[in-house]
Amino acid sequence: MNPSPVVTENFRDHLTTADQEGRRKWLFPRRPSGRFYRWRTWLSWLLLGVMFAGPFIRIHGNPLLLINIIERKFVILGQIFWPQDMIITAVTLLIFFTGIIVFTAAFGRLWCGWACPQTILMEMVFRKIEYFIEGDAPAQRALALAPWSASKAAKRLCKHAVFLALSFIVGNTLLAYIIGLNALSRIITDNPFHHLEGLGFMVLFTLIFYGIFARFREQACTFICPYGRLQATLLDENSIVVAYDYRRGEKRGPWRRSQPLEARRATGLGDCIGCQQCVAICPTGIDIRNGTQMECVQCTACIDACDGVMAKIGRPPGLIRYASLNGIERGEKLRFTPRLAGYVGLLVALIGLWGVLVFTRSDLETTLLRAPGGLFQQMPDGRFSNLYTVKVVNKTSLEKAVTLRLEDVQGNLQVMGAPLVVPPQKLSEASILIELDRGWMQPGLTQFKVGVYCEGRRIQTLKTSFIGPRE
Ligand code: SF4
Ligand code: SF4
Repeated sequence: MNPSPVVTENFRDHLTTADQEGRRKWLFPRRPSGRFYRWRTWLSWLLLGVMFAGPFIRIHGNPLLLINIIERKFVILGQIFWPQDMIITAVTLLIFFTGIIVFTAAFGRLWCGWACPQTILMEMVFRKIEYFIEGDAPAQRALALAPWSASKAAKRLCKHAVFLALSFIVGNTLLAYIIGLNALSRIITDNPFHHLEGLGFMVLFTLIFYGIFARFREQACTFICPYGRLQATLLDENSIVVAYDYRRGEKRGPWRRSQPLEARRATGLGDCIGCQQCVAICPTGIDIRNGTQMECVQCTACIDACDGVMAKIGRPPGLIRYASLNGIERGEKLRFTPRLAGYVGLLVALIGLWGVLVFTRSDLETTLLRAPGGLFQQMPDGRFSNLYTVKVVNKTSLEKAVTLRLEDVQGNLQVMGAPLVVPPQKLSEASILIELDRGWMQPGLTQFKVGVYCEGRRIQTLKTSFIGPRE
């Protein structure tokens, strides 16, 4: 680790976290304090509580959130979604992306600063532990430059041990969202040799999170997360972002206690006293006075830092604040532009469609197909028969008994084997023999309907066809 001062010149030509040779420059952001930091801390405790409690919360016996990609099973707010719910999944993804577009166009990267798990865990958990063990930025910088000693080794060992333990907890929480709490408990409590794959993922996730929070840090937002890179296309002059009021701040110049404000103004100086506090506190190492930049995660630390400086020199807060470019240049408030109206209209329509799809989808989904390659057979009593395969998906957490009946033809429908009872959240399959009376058959192909019944109620009507003799 080679601590270097943050470079703030020629900011468009290079990353503040890399030197001319592309080597990493380690950042030592100052410990923030102020009203935004206080509000973000409260919100982060709430969100962390929800995040860690999530796997334990059950709704109608289902988890709050489960994203089991391996078994293609998804639960959102206790609602199970199957691969058969593809349209709902597609609409959900469309809502997610449209929501991001609308939100970003209006409020910039509010999500990143206030609710993103990466920012919350980094700034509100890991960074606070680092401040606690190693002290504020100057102490951390001094420790990094100091030769190895027992005290330095003890601090580093303590910090990384805590980071590793926390990464293990975060990694297991993510695993619980993927495979479910029960499967995770089995991996932890059962014979480890029966769960080598699960244990492998446990170790992998722990190491990934440790790598992100102990080393990679702001680089995850700058290099990996695609959201920051979308800013250039999503933001416009009306988007609310963390911004420096250059009309009020420029021209920068040192503050002199003895110099009255009018005299300062007369020399052409604005409110920015060039103290660099907004830069020293930034966890991504940028200077917000250069304008909105891809690296900015809108964490508001620079607002708090600058407000503190303004309070000390007796000037009003808000030199750096939430504002749009039009707000700063023309004093305009957030405007509902036609572009924003279009996005919101699309979002509302998609949410409406999603609501209709979710609330009209059935708890059981049945498909009935004629057995491949099967032909008709004539029975001893003169009737004809066809063989079918029925598949029933039970999307509920209760066992469901299903019966099938012929709806608009006369004949006999027989489920081969045991009655059709579908366990919770499972798919059951059975063979069905259908016999039709000769009088109800058309020459060649007969179209007819089969009703699917559960708990005495018809829940689905299936259309199918029956092959018979041409004459
Ligand atoms: S903290 Fe405020 S006064 Fe100090 S350099 Fe930044 S913008 Fe200027
Ligand atoms: S510029 Fe300000 S809001 Fe953006 S990341 Fe840095 S401190 Fe946070």
